[in-house]
Formats: sequence, C-alpha cells, structure tokens
Amino acid sequence: MKLSVMRETHPGETRVALTPANISTLTGLGCAVYVETGAGDAAGFPDASYRDAGAEILTARAQLLEKGEIILCVDAAHDAALADLREGHICIGMMDPLSDADRFLELAERGITSVALELVPRISRAQSMDALSSIATLAGYKAVLLAACQAPRIFPMMMTAAGTLNPSRVFIMGAGVAGLQAAATAKRLGAIVEAYDVRPAARDQILSVGAKPVELDLDTSSSEGQGGYASEQDDDFLQRQREQMTQVLAQQDVVVTTAAIPGAKAPVLITEEMVKGMKPGAVIVDLAAERGGNCELSRPGETVTAYGVSIIGPRNIVASMPHHASQMYGRNVENLLRHLLDDEGKLTLDFEDEIVDETVVTHAGEVRAARIRERLS
Ligand code: NAD
Repeated sequence: MKLSVMRETHPGETRVALTPANISTLTGLGCAVYVETGAGDAAGFPDASYRDAGAEILTARAQLLEKGEIILCVDAAHDAALADLREGHICIGMMDPLSDADRFLELAERGITSVALELVPRISRAQSMDALSSIATLAGYKAVLLAACQAPRIFPMMMTAAGTLNPSRVFIMGAGVAGLQAAATAKRLGAIVEAYDVRPAARDQILSVGAKPVELDLDTSSSEGQGGYASEQDDDFLQRQREQMTQVLAQQDVVVTTAAIPGAKAPVLITEEMVKGMKPGAVIVDLAAERGGNCELSRPGETVTAYGVSIIGPRNIVASMPHHASQMYGRNVENLLRHLLDDEGKLTLDFEDEIVDETVVTHAGEVRAARIRERLS
C-alpha cells in the first residue's frame, strides 16, 4: 500500500503520525511511504531523517493525496486534508468520533474509509495500538511538572542548614492511565501522594505506584463499566462524592484531576465552593478541561486564579512533548497497520475481528462502527 504522512494543519498541533523509526518496518512490509515536507520538523524529525529511513518527501499536499492510498494524520478531526480526500481513500488518525458522530455520515457518503484510533478496543492484544493510553501516559507526567512549576512550594522534603522544608501533598483524582503516571511522577519528585478513583480495581494500582488510596463512604460496586472504563455516575453519587472530598482537598498543595467517562462530559469533581476551602497557593491541574472540566472553574488553555488557587486547564498537553508523543503515536499507528495489512502489504478489513469492527468508522459507503451508529441523529 502507499502511505501518505500529512503535515498537521491544526494550530498548535506539533506531532507527526509516523517517525523515521516506523518507516523501515512499513517499507519492509511492502509499503511505499510519502511524507509531506516539514511534517516532522516540530517534533524533531527533519525531512532528511525520513529520507534516510526510506520515505519519499513530497512538497505539495495535492501530490500526497494523489499518490497515497492510506492517509495518516494525528489530528484527523481538524485536518484540512479531510475535505480533499477522494473516494477509496483510507484515513487513519484521531477523529474525536464520540463528540460529533454526524460528521461520519458525510465521510461514508463520499466513499472514504475512516479509522479512528480513539475507538481501539481496550483488550490486551490491542494495547500496542492504543493511542489514548499513550497520550494519557505523557499527559499525567506533564501535569505534575506544570503543577510543580506553578506551585509556590517545592515537592520534596529538604533538611537544610536553613531549616527543614516539608514535602508537598499531591492528590490525584481519577487513577487511570494518566492518574497513575501523575502519581508516580509526583512520588519521584518527593511529594506525599494520595489518589482516588471510583473503580474499586484502582486501589491496588494506586498502591503499586507508591501512593496512598483515599477511601470514601460510597457504593462503587457498579462504577466499572464496559472495557475497564468507569461508568457514568448519577448526580446524587457525584454530590455525595464532592461532600466527602471537600475535607481531603483542603489539605492538598497540588491536585491533578483526570476523571473521564468515554463519550460523555467529564464529571464535575471540584466545585467553586470546594476551591474556596483549599489552601492559598494550592494548584489544580485539570486534565479534563477540554472535555468539560473536572473543576467547575477551569478554562481550557488558560490558568485561572480563584480564591488564591491556580487552576491550570491544559489544551492538547502532549503537543508540548512532540518528540516522544510522536514516537508513541507512530508506534501505535505502525502496530495498527501491521494488524490491518496482509503478508503482501495489502489492506484487508476483516470485520469479524473486534479491532477492525470497532475502529473502522466508515467503509463502503456506510457508517459501520456500532458506537458511532448509535449516536447518529
Ligand atoms: P479514562 O481516561 O476513561 O478515565 C480516567 C479515570 O477517571 C478512570 O480511572 C476512571 O475510573 C476515573 N473516573 C471516572 N469518573 C470518576 C469520578 N467520578 N471520580 C473519580 N474517578 C473517576 O480511563 P483510562 O485512564 O484510559 O483507563 C481506565 C482503566 O482502563 C485503567 O484501569 C486502565 O489500566 C485500563 N486500560 C486498559 C487498556 C487495555 O487493556 N488495552 C487500555 C487502556 C486502559
């Protein structure tokens, strides 16, 4: 197959869909790879590094679209290239499919096969293709660094000639992939770390990274939904959770929130009233800011100060680490392609396979993915 790697067009997107390390594997499978000039520049992968790895550099987007059968993007939801795809093109990327399902009706009508990496199922054999986990890993790490830079206190305990400095207390709300990485990072920096999640299974994972699980008096027996994700909690549950959490928050220097429900607005875990009760100088990093926010006061892309507390709402946080974010994304895409290509390097879509069935959104004129079909208006 012929693969085209597009230069990202969405403002602030610094990642690239494949890195030079992926090229030799894919050419070894019989693929030809075209890369748009400058596609890897922001991530530290110059054109020459792709050329050395066996790709052909093309300067005009029209050429990439003409030559490529599979179009590879990071942010395919916003990429200008989508508008120019033609019948028979296969587009693979992040498509934000759960927030706007109707967009796919038009892609299906145009005869485009779209593959959304967000829909890779959460099963062991698909782990190496799971771009959401890659993003969450880096986001959790960076959230703690952002907090450490913003905080007026240091994280570790220090015994100095000028006296002893107490360690910071860091609290992680939502102990999934991002939350556990945040907990581990804060621990490495020397903070006292606690974490909380609605899924009972998270308790052991919190302990495994050296953090202390916070227990609340709530019935969480039905908190784990399909595929290991949290199920949506009702208003009564969230209200009781917030009441009990107020005391915990009042003791923290840093809070990182990562709680998400796939396809739904993020639950509000911290209200304005709870922020009021926090220590002056405390920092909240809300990793769910772009999906509605876990803190009522967070604003995506901004740092808000309220009642002496800084509330950071990062937008596309992984774009600040484009080298490693692209390395992980590129490996996820490479593994998905290896799964989809047969021994002769031809794309075969076996809809009996769970990975294909859930991840391919449109094909042969139809919206196929069940999770998207049920959302069409
Ligand atoms: P996510 O991004 O959907 O959510 C982040 C965390 O927020 C989750 O742990 C969730 O339980 C938590 N949360 C939701 N509502 C909450 C609330 N009201 N209060 C507190 N916490 C709340 O989830 P994720 O980080 O991608 O992963 C969740 C689980 O799935 C983890 O156990 C992870 O190891 C597992 N996982 C498995 C695979 C795989 O097997 N291929 C891939 C990715 C993740």
